[in-house]
Amino acid sequence: MARRMHLPAQPFSPALMPSTPPNLPAAGHLLRSALWVLMLLAAPFARAFDTVVLDAGHGDFDRGAAIGYVYEKHLALDTARRVETLLRKAGLKVVMTRSRDVFIPLPGRAAVGNRYGNAIFVSIHYNYNRGGSGAGVESYYYHTRGYTLAGYIQAYLVQRTGMTNRGVKHASFHVIRETTRNPSVLIECGFVSNSTERARMMTGEFRNRIAEGIAQGIVAYRKAN
Ligand SMILES: [Zn+2]
Repeated sequence: MARRMHLPAQPFSPALMPSTPPNLPAAGHLLRSALWVLMLLAAPFARAFDTVVLDAGHGDFDRGAAIGYVYEKHLALDTARRVETLLRKAGLKVVMTRSRDVFIPLPGRAAVGNRYGNAIFVSIHYNYNRGGSGAGVESYYYHTRGYTLAGYIQAYLVQRTGMTNRGVKHASFHVIRETTRNPSVLIECGFVSNSTERARMMTGEFRNRIAEGIAQGIVAYRKAN
């Protein structure tokens, strides 16, 4: 659960990239085309990142989404630890904004996201809606450079879990807005408020699938960029 300001959905398919850049103001077709040419030319010269900053949402008094004794802060930390293990096995360096049940203010999390060059930032959350009808996974970006990363993670997360694909979305969440040095995304890994999804996410086996989806998306994004 993360405070949101606006969220137009964006369809995404890695296989179909690139088509048009996301979220550009009405800049004219020519300018958009020119920007894409520049991005494509720049891509081969960009060094592959070697560090992943993982941000487990909430912590301590900030439980995040909570139903009974199921707290988002615990689910997010457990998932982040599983992703950490998988990424280290894949040869990547991992930095955790928190690895225990502590509260870190949002600016402190973004500061870690900006501390390393050659890195990406991935914030892990679980979702909540009133009434409990919400279902599925969604991935957020704020700056355009996070869009492709969000798309890869979203695609692999859906593939690995079979959960409803709510798509790649744009929103002004603090940690992804203020992490400006590196591509940054925020992942909502299912609804604590949905009794069916909550029952699944309470099992380590399912949180492992979620972690595999996130880690596989990161590794595939790295190979493609
Ligand atoms: Zn959250």
